[in-house]
Amino acid sequence: MSLSQNWIDRAEQSVMKTYGRYPLVAVRGEGCRLWDVDGKEYLDFLAGVAVNNLGHCHPKVVAALRDQAGTLLHCSNFYQIPQQIELAEWLCARSFADRVFFCNSGAEANEGAMKLARKYSFEKYGADRYEIITAKASFHGRTLGGISATGQEKVQAGFAPMIPGFINVPFGDIDALRATITARTCAVMLEPVQGEGGVHVPPPGYIKAVRALCDEHDLLLIFDEIQVGCGRTGTLWAYQQEEIEPDVMTLAKALAGGPPIGALLAKQPFTGALGPGTHGSTFGGNPLMCSAALAAMHALEEDGILANGVAMGNYLRSKLEALRDNYDFVKEVRGRGLILGMELNCDGGEIVKQAMQQGLLINCTVGTVLRFVPPLVVTQADIDAAMAILDEILAGWSETGGQ
Ligand SMILES: *Cc1c(COP(=O)(O)O)cnc(C)c1O
Repeated sequence: MSLSQNWIDRAEQSVMKTYGRYPLVAVRGEGCRLWDVDGKEYLDFLAGVAVNNLGHCHPKVVAALRDQAGTLLHCSNFYQIPQQIELAEWLCARSFADRVFFCNSGAEANEGAMKLARKYSFEKYGADRYEIITAKASFHGRTLGGISATGQEKVQAGFAPMIPGFINVPFGDIDALRATITARTCAVMLEPVQGEGGVHVPPPGYIKAVRALCDEHDLLLIFDEIQVGCGRTGTLWAYQQEEIEPDVMTLAKALAGGPPIGALLAKQPFTGALGPGTHGSTFGGNPLMCSAALAAMHALEEDGILANGVAMGNYLRSKLEALRDNYDFVKEVRGRGLILGMELNCDGGEIVKQAMQQGLLINCTVGTVLRFVPPLVVTQADIDAAMAILDEILAGWSETGGQ
């Protein structure tokens, strides 16, 4: 029996089956490569679902973790934590935000954002103004608040009742949003580019028009940049390509270069809504994760990684578009920077499996959209190798008529 099979059998007996897992037992990563326990090498174009933006085990992140691990691991938020302060300063200096709250995951950051929006509105307008408008095909996490906000029935199924006060509108449709705003609305929450919902980029002008509607009705504009922040779309934050600023932004995934962290960023006067005793997190902002995040963000900025992400995003897109032109079951290629989706006329699950067998890791969202989110340190040679594998699979696919 292979070493992999042994772990797979053990998982069967001990790990809750919340994921439909592939038979890959990951044990080591470096840059854009991942190895399984039997020594097979993979080109990782999933990157922990946009977590490993710096590639696996970026040396600066690893060094920061090693260093901090021997100095102070955890300290209560009853006290001041220098690494947390430095990270907050860094985030505020490079974004619209005036203050930051730290937590441990994306869903938790969104919970904080939704609480902040409700509290701000409660203090200013009273108890009846609490609704948050979100988008269809959005994804905001797996907590009860997160699934209530998420505009996909499949994540809510079986968990009723949802938390009241969420309404979904089609993403990119400004008239639908305008028609949904009432005296009960307090905020609009959007991913500036949708990730899990199938890699959707909003039409030009939409985000600006959303900002204007929020200003007109005094609504908080919350951007969930958990997947598309930290350089993924080619700028540090995705909103920077829209010529507007949100009031609140949530981050997680790539912020610490691999280890778990979440952050809630807000500008004045909204930051004041969460005063002493209103919100908290035991692990949030701990020295270990904050030192990793500082190292990760410095690396992103200083080592030309952001610029490489832009160049490689353009390169990968051109390669995917060439495949689209060759295969008629490829409907569309879309995305921004290094979050790219290839929509198929057919189910993409089998292509993902074949790619894995041939040493390429990608995934498929909403059944038909292949998603490419390689590390921003990916090279042209990596992309060529990945596209050769994909081309071969699509060629075989096309012979069988997409079956
Ligand atoms: C991944 C993701 C989340 C949830 O983050 P977790 O860390 O898994 O809780 C929320 N929103 C978006 C846009 C995401 O991509």
